Formats: sequence, structure tokens, C-alpha cells
Amino acid sequence: MDGRLVPGAGGAFETINPATEEVLGTAADASADDMDRAIAAARRAFDETRWAADHAFRARCLRQLREGLRRRADELRELTIQEVGAPRFLTFGAQLDAPVDDLAWFADLAEGYGWERDLGRAEPMGMPSHRRVVREAVGVVGAVTPWNFPHQINLAKLGPALAAGNTVVLKPAPDTPWCAAVLGEVIAEETDIPPGVVNVVTSSDHALGAQLTRDPRVDLVSFTGSTATGRDVMAGAAATLKRVFLELGGKSAFVVLDDADLRAACSYAAFAGITHAGQGCAITTRILVPRGRHDEAVEITAKALAKLGAGDPQDDRTICGPVISARQRERIEGYLELAAGEGGAFACGGGRPEGRDKGFWIEPTLITGLTNDSRAAREEIFGPVLVILPHDGDDDAVRIANDSPYGLSGAVHGGDVERARGVARRLRTGTVSVNGGVWYGADVPFGGYKQSGIGREMGVAGFEEYLETKAIAEGV
Ligand code: NAD
Repeated sequence: MDGRLVPGAGGAFETINPATEEVLGTAADASADDMDRAIAAARRAFDETRWAADHAFRARCLRQLREGLRRRADELRELTIQEVGAPRFLTFGAQLDAPVDDLAWFADLAEGYGWERDLGRAEPMGMPSHRRVVREAVGVVGAVTPWNFPHQINLAKLGPALAAGNTVVLKPAPDTPWCAAVLGEVIAEETDIPPGVVNVVTSSDHALGAQLTRDPRVDLVSFTGSTATGRDVMAGAAATLKRVFLELGGKSAFVVLDDADLRAACSYAAFAGITHAGQGCAITTRILVPRGRHDEAVEITAKALAKLGAGDPQDDRTICGPVISARQRERIEGYLELAAGEGGAFACGGGRPEGRDKGFWIEPTLITGLTNDSRAAREEIFGPVLVILPHDGDDDAVRIANDSPYGLSGAVHGGDVERARGVARRLRTGTVSVNGGVWYGADVPFGGYKQSGIGREMGVAGFEEYLETKAIAEGV
């Protein structure tokens, strides 16, 4: 905070390995006063330094941050596996290496962006004027993040927010404080980022997130988390009319068309659905299959899920590790019970895997026999739990996929690519994968329709979330 590594006034709190329940260590437990000081530091750094004006300097700082994180990649990989329970293979992608690399894209953007546009001369109401439109930083950004992909989400906020010239107070989730604290460390020790520009405030107390959303010195809140908390953030920000950028929950559909290779599609749906124990907001957790091939689809998917299983995240071959906490496991078990009560059956899984006495585990699970009206099919479970539903053709599949309060992501698999693309265009979601295509990337805007969020993260659209627009007219 403010360029220094400081203990929390609230003492320290434990961070736990979800695969083993072992206490990894402690993190600074910030108090409301600490948060107050962090916001003051960010405000001062924005108002009293040239940070926002010097695009080249910011680009250099972002590259230093990238290099600093890359130098510590091995240590960060182990930390991420242990603190998040992230399967090792994911740390070579979205859990670590990809978001660190992506900082270069935002550094390049800061240098190459068209910060000013000349609209030329005009004579509005007979008064000769030369007009320009300039883009500039919004100010102090309050970033509030969840635990499931901490580096990806922390850096997808820090990268564009800093590239755009803002200063930031980052409040990470209480479950993954170390993944954020290490950013503060690298920034303080290995970059020229001035004091106060980035302030990482770890805390066991969710109220510090709410404090950030309400403080009048904060200009924009960039939030990723559940839709329920997103509503609170929006309401909290309303009093000071600050801008909000929300990345929220999802219940995305994986649509298998009747001309798809059913075996390949369902095997892929199983893999995609339980990666990182299903703890991804954009994971496709409703599998929609042609009614005539429903039973076959259930068999293929269940077999694939059982074969993948839940395993030690340290193991290279593990796709599905533990869930983050006992609380989260309880929540998922609540949904399993609910699904059974709603008439659902488990084609595989449905409980805790055998032989794992320590750690927070749920078996990869496939629920059959429900309709899209059931709560298990409508609400976000955030675990390795998939619901399979029959559809009666493309129009019906689109109808079911879109019949959701969410609109984050989706997937379509079909033999005729033109047709699959057509279905993809009809899905009311922010991202869609067709036949296994990967939309994730620094240059690709990501975000949700409907109750999955407001705004876009990453890409030029994500960068522009952190900018204001100013028109300047000179009398000539
Ligand atoms: P959460 O909403 O409980 O918490 C997210 C963050 O908000 C944490 O840092 C928490 O401390 C803070 N917080 C809690 N109450 C707050 C309040 N009243 N005001 C301000 N901040 C508050 O979510 P979680 O359990 O950490 O994460 C899981 C959820 O995040 C899932 O719903 C998932 O879909 C969503 N998610 C969305 C995306 C996306 O990009 N759309 C990405 C990852 C996760």
C-alpha cells in the first residue's frame, strides 16, 4: 500500500490449501482504516503525479511488472496450485502464464492508442471552433475480485486500468490473498510504478469491498464475483454515481446439434464442464442434446466424467481439482440435494469422492431428468456439476439456451459449421465457442448479457471501460 509492504491493522488471517486443508500461512488482515489509507494513497497518486499523463512511462512499468512476474513464475505456479487448488495444467494458461503475458498487450495499447481525435473546424451557431476529443483516465479504480482465477482476474483489471492511466485499490477475495499480495510485492520491488498507484488490500472482511464501492474518492468500481454481490456493488456505488463495471455469474449452455459428432461433442462438454472443478463463470454447465440421442449422450458424458474424476491438482493430468472451501462444498452439496428433490438423477457422481478425507472435494457429476425450469438448471452451482437436457432441434435449443437470467457464454457443436455459426449468433451471451474454438485472449472482449454483467473486460473495449471522454473546443 502506497509503495510499501505493510502489515494489516486487523492482524493476520490464514490461507488454506483446499486440496489438503493444510494452513499455508497468513496474510495481512486489513482494517477499514487501512482501506481508507489505501484509497487516500490512490487518490493522491492520481491527482498529484504525472502517472495519468505519461503513456510511455506506464507502458514501461507494465512491462516491468510482466518481467517481474515471469521471473517468479515457478514460485507463483506452486503458490497458485496450493492456494487456489488450480490444476497444474491450467497454470500454463489462464490461471497464470496467459494473464501475465497479456500485460504486454496492454502496454502496447497504452503506447499505440489514439488518445486524441481531431474533429476539425466547424461553426456551430455561427461561432468558429476547432474541436478535439481526448480520452483520459477515469481516476481511482476500486477493483474487487473473486478467488477462482485470481491472477487472471486481478491482472485483467490492473493491466487495462493502469494502461489507461488510473490508480487502483485492489481488494482480492479472502480465500486467495497471497495470489494478490504477491502482485503488490513485485510492483513494490521490481517496477517503477510510483507509490500509491497500486494498493493491494488483503482482508478477511468482505465489508472492505463494500467500503470501496461507497467511498466518494473512488471513481469507478471494477467488480468480478457473484450476481448477488454485483447487485450490492451497484447499489453501493449509486449514492456517489460512480461507474460500475460488473463481471458476474453464468449458467452457460453447451448446445449439441443433431449433425454433430455426438461422442466428440459430449466428451468435450465433460472436459470443459469440470475443468477447475467447474469453478469458472463462463463454464458451460447445461448440456443441450438432441432428444432422440439423449440417452446415448448421457452415457458418453457420464463415462467421460467418471474417467476424468477429481484428482490432486499437483498432478499434470488432473483436470478437476478440489473446490475452494468447505463453505463452497456445502453450497454445492445443497444443490445436489435440491436436484434430487426436484426429480433429478445422477448419471455419475452426486457426492464426495471416496478416499479423500482431507480437502474439499466433489465428484464430477451429471444430473439427468430435470427441465430447464428447475433450480439446478437455472442457478449457478459453481462446482463440477452438469445438467443435461434434451432439445427438439435448433430453434428449441436456442430457446432453452436463452431461457436463463444469465448471458455470459455458450458453446455450439455441429457438423455443418455454417449452421452452427448461425445458432451461435442467436445466443444472447457475451462469448460463444463454435466447435471448440477458444475466445479467450487479451484482444478479445469478455463479459455478459443480462444478469451476467455490465461492460467488457479485456480487448480494446475492456481498456476503454477505464477511460473518460472529453470534448475540447477552441474559439478560432
Ligand atoms: P463473491 O461475490 O462472494 O465475492 C467476490 C468479491 O466481492 C470478494 O472479493 C468479496 O470479498 C467481495 N465482496 C463480498 N461482498 C461484497 C459487497 N457487499 N460489496 C463489495 N464487495 C463484496 O464471489 P466469489 O464467491 O468470490 O466468486 C464466485 C462468483 O464469481 C461466481 O458467481 C462466479 O460466477 C463469479 N465470477 C464471475 C466472473 C466473470 O467474469 N463473470 C469471473 C469469475 C467469477
